[in-house]
Amino acid sequence: MLVSIEFFPPDVDKGLLKLRQVATKMAVLQPEYFSVTYGAGGSTKNDTYRTVETLIQAGFEVAPHLSFDAGSEQEVEALLDRYVALGIRRVVTLRGDVPEDRLASCNKMRHASELVRFIRQRHQDHFRIEVAAYPETHPAAASAEADLQWLKAKIDAGANAAITQYFYNCDAYEDFINRCSRLGLNVPIVPGVMPITNYARLVGFSKKCGAEIPRWILKRLEQYQDDTASLRSFGVEVVTALCERLQSLAVPGIHFYSMNQSKAVLAICRNLGMARLAD
Ligand code: FAD
Repeated sequence: MLVSIEFFPPDVDKGLLKLRQVATKMAVLQPEYFSVTYGAGGSTKNDTYRTVETLIQAGFEVAPHLSFDAGSEQEVEALLDRYVALGIRRVVTLRGDVPEDRLASCNKMRHASELVRFIRQRHQDHFRIEVAAYPETHPAAASAEADLQWLKAKIDAGANAAITQYFYNCDAYEDFINRCSRLGLNVPIVPGVMPITNYARLVGFSKKCGAEIPRWILKRLEQYQDDTASLRSFGVEVVTALCERLQSLAVPGIHFYSMNQSKAVLAICRNLGMARLAD
């Protein structure tokens, strides 16, 4: 099973050192790549670059996330050139969660498909481009069907593959890939998987990004709010079962939203029999 692992950029040197240690622990999974998020509106531009550079120097395959931001097309271009110089061959290309008013005023590009097209025009086939997909529908989408059509627009613009928003209801993913396939979208649609390690954070994130936490899971998590060990152990159990079901669907890989923590991802992968792993 191929895995990729997502990090967010720490904003201090100590955090970067720690992240490098986390990446080294996770290297036992032989991930296809580590990806590094890009703060909405370019807020982490320098930190993302520094994190990518650090992981590259440590010898890992890395895919920066990239979105257009308050800067000009020239700034996006300059960042892409720096990534080319670093030897980067893959980017996760997104719109980002920029507030509507800023989006309207700051840049010609409004949707991720435009950024995909921009990258293809400037760099042809240099980069493998991953884009975001939403089995449970993007929260701002006009409809599930419209959202799927906009995913198609990103693929038509030159994206090679998609990574999904996380979900805990595997039926949503299965239905989504069937709909993609009926639409002739034959690129890999890699499921994004979020380990469960923190009740408040998960509930907050899920509300924002439109990921549904099934009631039976939510109720159990509520029960463990003040008992971190039980919450984490239940989280590993639930997410292992989800990954087993994904494996049975012969998914092209799994993208873990690691939140810069190795323990839960390693425990899940150990349960999946992926490798003999040290703690
Ligand atoms: P788009 O594909 O542009 O879609 C955004 C919305 O607009 C959708 O509702 C879509 O239906 C609609 N739409 C798309 N095209 C059009 C069009 N031409 N006309 C009208 N409507 C259209 N956010 C970050 O800020 N930084 C990150 O690093 C980051 N990494 C992510 C990684 C993954 C794998 C995923 C799934 C999400 C990530 N996000 C990140 C969140 C993402 O930026 C948000 O979900 C954002 O709101 C949408 O981004 P998108 O690339 O899907 O946008």
